[in-house]
Amino acid sequence: MSEEALSDSRPSVYPPIRKDREALRPRPNLFDYESECAAFSWDKARALLDGLPDGQGLNIAYEAVDRHASGAKGDKAALRWLGKAGERRDITYRELSEETSRFANALKCLGVEPGERVYVMMGRLPELYIAMLGALKAGCVASPLFSAFGPEPIAVRMQLGDGRVLVTTPRLYKRKVAGIRDQVPGLAHVLLVGEGEVEGDGLHRWDRTVEAASPQFTIRPTDPEDMALLHFTSGTTGRPKGAIHVHQAVVAHHVTGRYALDLHEDDVFWCTADPGWVTGTSYGIIAPLTNGVTSIVAEAEFDAETWFDILEQEKVSVWYTAPTAIRMMMRIGTDVAKGRDLSALRFMASVGEPLNPEAVVWGQEAFGMPFHDNWWQTETGGIMIANYAALDIRPGSMGRPMPGIEAAIVRKLDSGDVEVIDEPMVEGELALRRGWPSMMRGYLHEEERYRKSFAGDWYLTGDLAQRDSDGYFWFVGRADDVIKSAGHLIGPFEVESALIEHPAVAEAAVIGKPDPTLGEMVKAFVTLRPGHEASEAMRRELIGHARKKLGAAVAPKEIDFRENLPKTRSGKIMRRLLKARELGLPEGDISTLESDEK
Ligand code: AMP
Repeated sequence: MSEEALSDSRPSVYPPIRKDREALRPRPNLFDYESECAAFSWDKARALLDGLPDGQGLNIAYEAVDRHASGAKGDKAALRWLGKAGERRDITYRELSEETSRFANALKCLGVEPGERVYVMMGRLPELYIAMLGALKAGCVASPLFSAFGPEPIAVRMQLGDGRVLVTTPRLYKRKVAGIRDQVPGLAHVLLVGEGEVEGDGLHRWDRTVEAASPQFTIRPTDPEDMALLHFTSGTTGRPKGAIHVHQAVVAHHVTGRYALDLHEDDVFWCTADPGWVTGTSYGIIAPLTNGVTSIVAEAEFDAETWFDILEQEKVSVWYTAPTAIRMMMRIGTDVAKGRDLSALRFMASVGEPLNPEAVVWGQEAFGMPFHDNWWQTETGGIMIANYAALDIRPGSMGRPMPGIEAAIVRKLDSGDVEVIDEPMVEGELALRRGWPSMMRGYLHEEERYRKSFAGDWYLTGDLAQRDSDGYFWFVGRADDVIKSAGHLIGPFEVESALIEHPAVAEAAVIGKPDPTLGEMVKAFVTLRPGHEASEAMRRELIGHARKKLGAAVAPKEIDFRENLPKTRSGKIMRRLLKARELGLPEGDISTLESDEK
């Protein structure tokens, strides 16, 4: 690309990172971006997969596991599990096929029907992967729950999704589920993985139920449009939304794994995301397996030194991680990376929150290669915009749309339609033309909310962005009040609701406050009921209350007390104004603010 062509690109202090694509080894799967985009079709992408034998449809678990298990990859490690206590266990494609079949048989024995929801909530244990994939084999809908959630978010999500089965550990059950069982009457079976005695209705031990089941299971015929995955995501208001994904999504998982993560079959791939969130499912479970690679599953929580150890010792070749972790690794310094043998590593990608250009460039210094930022969200099911192995990088940009994806910057019109903004570097909402296989098929039980996320053929992402004259997209911010903290999407309403359940709290408003490591941290403003005093003890009390209900990852880290919260004349709390005031930014349009609060 000529320097001239870069002239109206976003001004960045960092020059583009040029790629000599001819020198890249192995040859990137997406070698020539323009011609691949021109030649691409989703039908051709579908042909990269096998489909169920005898034309019985398309099933994610078959593409991920069984088709490899019966072929040349049968004895290859599908998952390499690194336990917290230093264990290292390889699970081959054949073993994974057998284990997932046992789980599918166990569901059948329990009378669980296809289409019913199987929730999985635990740390990164092999059983989590077995349960997710086994549920798909049985034709059930697999729904992961983040194990750091507190009881409240768990109850709400199981109610919304009509959970029939939960797979968890005795410890998590005791701490988080036993107390909310009466709120989820449809939950018939709980499978408990590992040691520990608990009591309750419909409890089954994994070792007796699953390990005793037959390792043979014939995947039932699956329509590509059958519901497969249910992922919860947060909006600004109301309860979380259950985004429905179908089996056909696997076409996008597979192809984005090939193109955006450049997976080749000899790769050792490590996606660090927790499977409680969509990245950990699409790229921590499905895409690496459909591509037949060995996927690292590290049970332990983040620790910079340990992560460097894993990269080195496991000879990770493709690494998919997130900005918060990268920033934490940056803190321990470039020399730590340089002192190690990371010669196996050839591609690094990042997702989930804005990747600051310093972090892209730090990759270059520390690892000799940049981080490749990419963008997508729960609703899109797979990567939509990415920096590719063979394409130059503009540090700070999310990259260019995947082949098969049409992305645009749009402006909303009064009519409710949208207009595509053609001029480069003009801010608007990021929109995607509907029609790719991993697009959500609905928000469960919420037709209206689903409908509102489209304008004609355009799916509106809720993100603000710009596009430069060469088609690179640049993230600007969220169009709504949703918070991204350490890569986790947090709905302010859910946090506010938990806070006002405390008897001392009259009102609460929650914002995302910029944080150098977490991206944003959850901050709450509360007004107290008469008879309660704002004090340090009260602050601690409220933080403790929120943690107990929501879990530490979601609860506010800071709480400020206020006499009043700014509200519109119709009584809606203006989070935006609180945020502007907190950050010392212009207050914007406050014409609807109640007059005594200006
Ligand atoms: P989730 O649905 O939890 O995956 O969150 C999706 C949201 O995370 C997007 O709508 C963005 O706001 C944000 N996000 C994801 N990837 C990126 C990225 N590469 N740069 C900036 N924001 C991102």
